[in-house]
Amino acid sequence: MTSNKEEQLKELNDRMMQCSQCVLRGTCRTVVPGEGSADSEIMFIGEGPGKKEDELGRPFVGAAGKFLEEMLGLINLKRKDIYIANVVKCRPPENRDPLPEEVAACWPWLLEQIKIIQPKLIVTLGRHSMERFLPNQKISQIHGKAMRRETPGIGKQVFYTLYHPAAALYNGSMREVLIKDFKRIPKVIDKIKKDIA
Ligand code: URA
Repeated sequence: MTSNKEEQLKELNDRMMQCSQCVLRGTCRTVVPGEGSADSEIMFIGEGPGKKEDELGRPFVGAAGKFLEEMLGLINLKRKDIYIANVVKCRPPENRDPLPEEVAACWPWLLEQIKIIQPKLIVTLGRHSMERFLPNQKISQIHGKAMRRETPGIGKQVFYTLYHPAAALYNGSMREVLIKDFKRIPKVIDKIKKDIA
């Protein structure tokens, strides 16, 4: 059965596919809106599509995505159980960082996704995603900590910052920290549920 959220996301994705609000749509192959369960309690937010994502139109399908899936397995989740999106939906050329105006142009799409899904927890992957919601913070200081913050347009949400899987992939110590932080996600969710019960 299709949930109401699923229908809303589908309609949103259709609109995203038509977007040409910034220059990235001129150089990427396709828009990568996001994927997963519209009813998920957890939403993961990365930076932007890479080469493989741009080819397939799906988020996190390259090496970083494989690592993300491995970590999901550690907490008994599969991709289909969560929702994954990015701060920008179109691949920046040569995988450069998205420019502030590109992030700003794509921001309303991300807010709409969050408003539909209403996750209990938003997990930001990497510094660029963190900065959008938790400005003026250092990822080395706040990774692995849950923080409730107000964001204009979506109200109060709980954020949990992780290092980006692509950055941690080939960095032994960062990889260990990321895995440790990742394994705490179920506890963080339990606490959120208790706090709002
Ligand atoms: N890195 C990201 O931040 N997002 C993707 O979709 C893939 C790699």
